[in-house]
Amino acid sequence: MSMTMNEPTVTAFTIDETHDPARRSWVQGADGHAEFPIQNLPFGLFSPTGSGPRPGVAIGDFILDLAQLAEAGLLPQSATAALSQPALNDLLGLPASDRQALRRRLSDLLSDPAHRDEVSPCLHAATECTLHVPARIGDYTDFYAGIHHATNVGALFRPDNPLLPNYKHVPIGYHGRASSIRASGVPVVRPNGQRKPPQAEVPDFGPCRRLDYELELGIWVGPGNDLGQPIPIHEAANHIAGYCLLNDWSARDLQAWEYQPLGPFLAKNFHTTISPWVVTAEAMAPFRLAQTPRPQDDPQPLPYLWDKADQAKGALALGLTVSIRSAAMREAGMAPFTLSQGPASNLYWTVAQLLTHHASNGCDLHPGDLLGTGTISAPERTGYGSLLEITEGGKLAITLPTGEERRFLEDGDELFLSARAEAPGRVPIGFGPCHAVILPAPAL
Ligand code: CA
Repeated sequence: MSMTMNEPTVTAFTIDETHDPARRSWVQGADGHAEFPIQNLPFGLFSPTGSGPRPGVAIGDFILDLAQLAEAGLLPQSATAALSQPALNDLLGLPASDRQALRRRLSDLLSDPAHRDEVSPCLHAATECTLHVPARIGDYTDFYAGIHHATNVGALFRPDNPLLPNYKHVPIGYHGRASSIRASGVPVVRPNGQRKPPQAEVPDFGPCRRLDYELELGIWVGPGNDLGQPIPIHEAANHIAGYCLLNDWSARDLQAWEYQPLGPFLAKNFHTTISPWVVTAEAMAPFRLAQTPRPQDDPQPLPYLWDKADQAKGALALGLTVSIRSAAMREAGMAPFTLSQGPASNLYWTVAQLLTHHASNGCDLHPGDLLGTGTISAPERTGYGSLLEITEGGKLAITLPTGEERRFLEDGDELFLSARAEAPGRVPIGFGPCHAVILPAPAL
């Protein structure tokens, strides 16, 4: 069979019986679950009480032990070796077709009641498990593809010329730090660092005074490439294994002083929080959108970044929410307060363009590497993805339901990111938690 140039050839975009809205699971509470119905099936690395880390899949309020299921010979041979590892790197590195075969089998095992007796012993209550960073992250790269964020932040420094001339030609990014990435729930210790307010002549060293978050999507790299072998844009989607939420905690006062001329350093690498579930590219197949067309006056991307199929399906129908809960709100039993809501489609570059650009010079990407999209802001204030934007650099205060004011994050604050994929006629899916509480800086 021949393929035409316009047809997507990406296995991960295929919609099949695993996405059927009528498909039900025999697992109690899975049908209608807000985040993990049978149509999702995200992969994670979990420890049941008293046991070591192992691959699992979320189904409702339970986690299915994939190592145990593979040992019992119930999963495809192509995935068995990968599932015996205490990290998901080998699983993420499987060809998309093998990942899809595993998904089909899991969907079958969890929907057909005939499998209940053999599969039930491999289920654990999620509340009794610990979730880990799912892979050994070799390298972490953070991009800057949220154009409204780039414009808002640029405008704080250069009101007349917010976007630098390269922005619409080249996906901007920097190499981050993999060692300080943690799963949701691990507290964030306020960093100490060099601070130099504009009116001060010299810096001092102490607790960050302008602690912020950044709402981002994380992209889990799949098979990847060898050194010197770029990934063509039309193959990029085959190297994207899945997605997570990513909070790029940012110390704005440290950042303002240290970032020139080499870019972010200690203001960013003290902690990064991710949602621990890998929502697979396959699960997101029904939630793909056309990339928002560029305004007419914008430059056309260079040919190595341009692919019709990617433009037709490169964006995600994903709603993103950020909320906060102060210590006083927590003590009063109050729900988190929404700071912003907006769609993930506010990215100037598709994730395929980010990946292809990263490998375009021959840089090798590996299974389990993590890419951040950059802060995702909507054009409207209600969808801004950081406090730097919402408070205009600390000028405007936010009032919480307790009457407390916030310009930046205080000790005891908890910050929550959430994501929900929705499309007409489809069962919505979620990404699971991505939150952390702020602890005081270590004493000097
Ligand atoms: Ca960032």
